[in-house]
Amino acid sequence: MKNIKIAIDGHSSCGKSTLAKQIAKHFGFTYIDTGAMYRTIALFAMRNSMITPDGTPDENRLKEKIGDISVTFLKDGHAALNGEDVENEIRTLEVSNTVSKIAALKFVRQEMVTLQRKMAEDTSVIMDGRDIGTVVFPDAELKIFVTADDEVRAQRRFNELTSKGEQVTFDEVLKNVRERDLLDTTREESPLRKADDAILLDNSFMTREEQFEVAKNFVDRTMQE
Ligand code: C5P
Repeated sequence: MKNIKIAIDGHSSCGKSTLAKQIAKHFGFTYIDTGAMYRTIALFAMRNSMITPDGTPDENRLKEKIGDISVTFLKDGHAALNGEDVENEIRTLEVSNTVSKIAALKFVRQEMVTLQRKMAEDTSVIMDGRDIGTVVFPDAELKIFVTADDEVRAQRRFNELTSKGEQVTFDEVLKNVRERDLLDTTREESPLRKADDAILLDNSFMTREEQFEVAKNFVDRTMQE
C-alpha cells in the first residue's frame, strides 16, 4: 500500500487532535500535532524573556536563536523542547495566549513546515494544524476541515483545563479561543482557511465517537481510491 497523507485543519479547540489520534491509532498512521510544535517555540520564547508584557514577541532575538531550538516528539508522543518533555507546560492557557503571535512569524513557520515535511517522509501520516491542507501538504490524499460553534469549543477546553487543575474561568477560555481564531484567520503568513478540496466537518452536535465514525468512513474511502 502506498503512503498517504491526511490533513486535518480547523479552528482552535475543535477536537482536531483527538480525532487525528483516533484515526492514527485505528489505521496505524503516524500522528503529528503541529500545534504542539508552535506551542513549544512559544514556551521557549516565554522562558527566555522574549515576550514583552503586552504579549509581543521579540522577533530579532527569537530569529537569532531559532536554529538552536530542537522540537521533537518523544516515544509517548509528548512534545519535547531540546529533549525536555514539555507536554504539560505547553497546554496551559498562558502558552495558548502567546502561541498565535509566535505562529504568525514567517521565519518560525518556515522552520516548522520544513520539519513537518521531514517528519512525514516515508510513512503514512495524519497531521493536524491550521495550514496542513493549504501549505504543508497541498497534495494530501484527504483533507478535513474541522469546526464547531465557539462557545461549544470553549466549554470543551474549559472542562479539559479545569480537570487538570488549572484555575481558569469560562470567559477567559472563550476569549482565548476567539482571539486565536481571529489571529489565525487574519495573519499574513499562511492564514487559517479551508482548502478548496477539504471536507467540512462541523462537530458542534457530535460526540467524539460519532465524529470518529464519520471521519473513518472518509479515510476508508480514500484508501480504496
Ligand atoms: O492546535 P493548537 O491549538 O495546539 O495550536 C496552537 C496555535 O498554533 C494555533 O492557535 C495557531 O496559532 C498555531 N498553529 C499554526 N499552524 C499550525 C498549527 C498551529 O499557526 N499548523
